[in-house]
Amino acid sequence: MTLIVAKFGGTSVASPERIKNVAKRLARMKENGDKVVAVVSAMGKTTDELMGLANAVNTNPPARELDRLLSTGEQVSMTLLALSLESMGLRAMSFTGRQAGIETNGTHNKARIVKVHNERILNALEADIIPVVAGFQGIDANGDITTLGRGGSDTTAVAVAWGIGADVCEIYSDVDGVYTTDPRIAPRARKLNEISYDDMLELSSAGSGVLQSRAVEFAKKWGVVIHSRSAFSDAPGTYIKEDPKMEEAVITGIAHDTSEIKVTIRHVPDAVGVAAKVFSALAANMVNMDMIIQNTSRDGATDISFTCPASDLARARETLDVIIPEIGADSVDVEEDIAKISLVGTGMKSSPGVSALAFRTLGENNINIMAISTSPIRLSMVIDSAETQRAVQLLHTAFDLDSDSIFEETQLSAEEIAAKMAKGR
Ligand code: ADP
Ligand code: ASP
Ligand code: MG
Repeated sequence: MTLIVAKFGGTSVASPERIKNVAKRLARMKENGDKVVAVVSAMGKTTDELMGLANAVNTNPPARELDRLLSTGEQVSMTLLALSLESMGLRAMSFTGRQAGIETNGTHNKARIVKVHNERILNALEADIIPVVAGFQGIDANGDITTLGRGGSDTTAVAVAWGIGADVCEIYSDVDGVYTTDPRIAPRARKLNEISYDDMLELSSAGSGVLQSRAVEFAKKWGVVIHSRSAFSDAPGTYIKEDPKMEEAVITGIAHDTSEIKVTIRHVPDAVGVAAKVFSALAANMVNMDMIIQNTSRDGATDISFTCPASDLARARETLDVIIPEIGADSVDVEEDIAKISLVGTGMKSSPGVSALAFRTLGENNINIMAISTSPIRLSMVIDSAETQRAVQLLHTAFDLDSDSIFEETQLSAEEIAAKMAKGR
């Protein structure tokens, strides 16, 4: 008997048909003699739609109210899955974050799980009932509903797996595992059988959406083994675990992120303490800076650029409108169409020449690099977002990551995927 937590993402529960397919899959697990807890995301694009509704009535919705609203998406899908299981003659019970005992801190919109009270889930399992848990949500010390940040159902699944001592946390999505890069933009991406927590964490933090980085962080901390796999097939996926026995490639994967913008402050006086003043003010206004670039100064002044999430732009502008006259800088430019491409791999630590090959590859293909940052296991470059796909494909080839065959699943349309699902594959 294996104790499994199985998480199904938005695409996997996007319609009643797909929910029924998830129910069938859970039934098969039970038939195999396994015990299973399901965790679900909201159906399809529900979370985006709820966000749109909130913004339609309030362009700056208070975080507490927004969480209350967003949490309803998962409450619909969990109930439908429980109903579907019951209709098949299985016993199931849905649980909100609160009912599942997911306790978080009070940081609305991106709360962290601090405790998992596992009693109700364990009791349900004991009674041969399939617990269906709403992902993405918890409850803070005030009893208020919190959400865990976009993609947060992954973190719910890992936390529940840890909380009940599951053997594995299976994350089902529309791809059949973790690839060397997003298979939707590079058809020659290769599926990895295994990947270490450290490489996965770096890929997720650099924008590879397949797993939420908090989920990987949690799994690494508590040693939860994640199996990322397809909701549409039985093929084995990718195991994320400590030190897998894989060939030590220099680069494990490439991530891209188009959610950031680049802000440049022109003609900043080159004086002691100016940068501190600018960045303290930005930080105080909750602008989440990523890369920072200061050019060499000419005539006693320099340009300073930084990247930050596009969603922080209004706050960045507000702060700089006050700071620029104070420090005597000229103006602010914003470039919205940028992409950050990151090469990731623990193998990079012991391999010189990664940057040289990356820069040469982009340079020879006329792709301009606007900013660079590095860590021991990551090299990130900012480029024009229009070049994202070409840059990822060129780097993927240059670093010898290409598979011999084209990834056919990515060529399927949404309708074809739906047809595959209907066949129960
Ligand atoms: P879910 O809604 O089920 O949580 P997501 O959309 O969050 O699923 O994650 C799956 C998506 O992640 C895939 O459709 C794929 O485009 C994207 N993705 C990005 N990078 C990778 C990668 N390296 N390997 C696999 N998928 C990736
Ligand atoms: N429904 C939430 C989102 O869209 C959480 C998740 O899907 O993991 O971000
Ligand atoms: Mg996701």
